[in-house]
Amino acid sequence: MKILIKNTTIITLNKSRMLLKDSNIVIEDQLISYIGDKVLPDSDYDRVIDGSNRVIMPGYINAHTHFYSSFAKGIGGIASSESFMEVLENMWWKLDKGLRLEDTYYSALTAIMDGIKNGVTTFIDHHASPYAVTNSLPEIAKAVERMGVKACLCYETSDRDGVDIKDAGILENFSFIENNKNPNIIGLIGLHASFTLSDKTLEEIVAKNTNNYGYHIHVSEDKADELDANKKYKTSVVERLHKYGIVNKRSILAHCVNISEKDRQIIKDNDGMIVHNPESNLNNAVGISDVLSQVNDGILVGIGTDAMTNKMGNEMRIALWLQHLKHKNPSCGFMEIASLLLENNAKIANRLWNTDKFGVIKEGNYADIIMLDYDPITPLNEDNIMGHIVFGIAEANVVTTISNGKILWHNNQFEDFIDQHQINKHSRELAKKVWERI
Ligand SMILES: [Zn+2]
Repeated sequence: MKILIKNTTIITLNKSRMLLKDSNIVIEDQLISYIGDKVLPDSDYDRVIDGSNRVIMPGYINAHTHFYSSFAKGIGGIASSESFMEVLENMWWKLDKGLRLEDTYYSALTAIMDGIKNGVTTFIDHHASPYAVTNSLPEIAKAVERMGVKACLCYETSDRDGVDIKDAGILENFSFIENNKNPNIIGLIGLHASFTLSDKTLEEIVAKNTNNYGYHIHVSEDKADELDANKKYKTSVVERLHKYGIVNKRSILAHCVNISEKDRQIIKDNDGMIVHNPESNLNNAVGISDVLSQVNDGILVGIGTDAMTNKMGNEMRIALWLQHLKHKNPSCGFMEIASLLLENNAKIANRLWNTDKFGVIKEGNYADIIMLDYDPITPLNEDNIMGHIVFGIAEANVVTTISNGKILWHNNQFEDFIDQHQINKHSRELAKKVWERI
């Protein structure tokens, strides 16, 4: 399939050449094969897209999410929660126990469709389904393949549901990583959080991880995680994980809301990656993470949504306003926070996939591309691109999403191979049963 997008404005996010106007992009075999202003005949291409009055950017990467949360929309009968721990107990640890393999598959399909509509082409997911652990990751991988996106998957190992489920979780992670054949999909070793993992379990996982796979874990999301580590192990969460070698350059530490300066130094010294999830932190009332200090310390910090949304531009804006509020300064952190989404998420993906093809529109890179309905009403030039992105493009409608060189969403509609309403209908039937089970 050869695709031509013509007469368009390209925000490449390539620092040496950020903006191209009245330009064309050619996509072939999952990659960008040409960008420039050469006149190209339509007849040479299988699909030709007119990109005039629109803006092209690299597809978004959601660096921390939970597909399995899809069936929580509109759920009733959940006791109101007074704390983060009660949110887990009353809501997420009930919902995830209701999931069977087919629910996991449909949760993933619907979450990915929502991502595609909003321009997300790469997802870093963290899965839980304690009563259907075995084969849950291959089910999600099937959904990722069917939708045509990229994803990094893991199963959240935990001691919270007993030894058998813990054992199944460990096995699921290793077995998925070692059997997965699709280069668009990778795996990490999933861990829930310090407060649900005993020393014995951490020792067991680390001993088994002789190939040094990276980890994906919730870290210091709420103060309760720190209190637990302090009480049981006389240490901070980051120090505890560091002791096991879990803080390393292949590991994602989601949240890090309540970490100390010393913890930041450990993460920096070991090149760990933090993923900030501002909307989720607000919703769970766990605090405002000091992302600016993390970035200024030289830590690679990306941005995810923790399944609250797939609107990455809005998530970035919320992250920025929160830093303004935290530091009581309405102009702090503009470039640093915009970079979480526009630069650092690609660095994270490049590191995890062991490539350099994410995040920049240039020849030879992955053809993961979005087209946004943005016809600037003020001059757009090399020097003010970030201002246009944060105050305009971040909220613009995604009209086209191309992933792995394939059109998934165009002119605000899914391509024929994605039967959205059929999938939604079956998903509603499954969700009803899940709700009845929990
Ligand atoms: Zn999470």
